[in-house]
Amino acid sequence: MSKLFNISKLKDKWGTLFFIIFFSLYLVSFINDYGGIYFYFKKVLIEKDDINNIINEYSDECFYYFLPATFSEKRPLGLVRYEKEEVLISLLGGYSSEDFEYVKTAVNMLNSAIGYDKFLFCDLNIIKSDIILIYIPKYIKNKSFGKTSKNINSLSGEIKSSMVFVYDCDNQSFKNRVVMHELLHAIGFSGHPGSLCENSFLSDKNYNIELDAYKMVEYEAEAIRLLYDKRLPNHLSRETFLRQIYNNRSSYSIDFEKFY
Ligand SMILES: [Zn+2]
Repeated sequence: MSKLFNISKLKDKWGTLFFIIFFSLYLVSFINDYGGIYFYFKKVLIEKDDINNIINEYSDECFYYFLPATFSEKRPLGLVRYEKEEVLISLLGGYSSEDFEYVKTAVNMLNSAIGYDKFLFCDLNIIKSDIILIYIPKYIKNKSFGKTSKNINSLSGEIKSSMVFVYDCDNQSFKNRVVMHELLHAIGFSGHPGSLCENSFLSDKNYNIELDAYKMVEYEAEAIRLLYDKRLPNHLSRETFLRQIYNNRSSYSIDFEKFY
């Protein structure tokens, strides 16, 4: 009788210990995933001196693209991006020599948009890579053309790494556009631009249009430069961006509101 009593007491002890361990692990993962929700309530502001400069330096079309593409409603973290000086991009899986060459071009397009060499094509060091493009062969059927998952430090608003899945298809030019589209998600754009941006890579409304995979429209390049503009702080929210930048432009050449 007394032996039985001891065993149940021992079980309680282990039970408590396991509970504490699992609860701690859960808490750590919860803070990592949702810790940034703090920034949703804490107002992260753009410096007053910078507001007018930013407004004057970027075009209407750029802001129209930027707002829904950066501040996706699904993500409460606001603006997120890579903070490292050099972001390494590499390939994995069943890619062809055309795919290989295209990623080099895509990296060049990103760098020329930003204005310096932030992104580096890195063929040999997959382990150190910040963005890995994984090419999935055709016999693995998938409904989507590409998919990106980002690992974000929610406290700093910094993207730590991204994985991009590219599903093979017969149309090389289309596949290239998918690569560029997913790379844009990988570097920080969580949503898609407004419906007028059909000829951009990040548009989700241009599947049926034949577009040049080697040419980036100017407003898209501008939006990439704006995303990496240090004057915009990490965790900047959609509401703050609207209030401080978007609504302070004296006029827009297009009535954007009805297109959102
Ligand atoms: Zn997308």
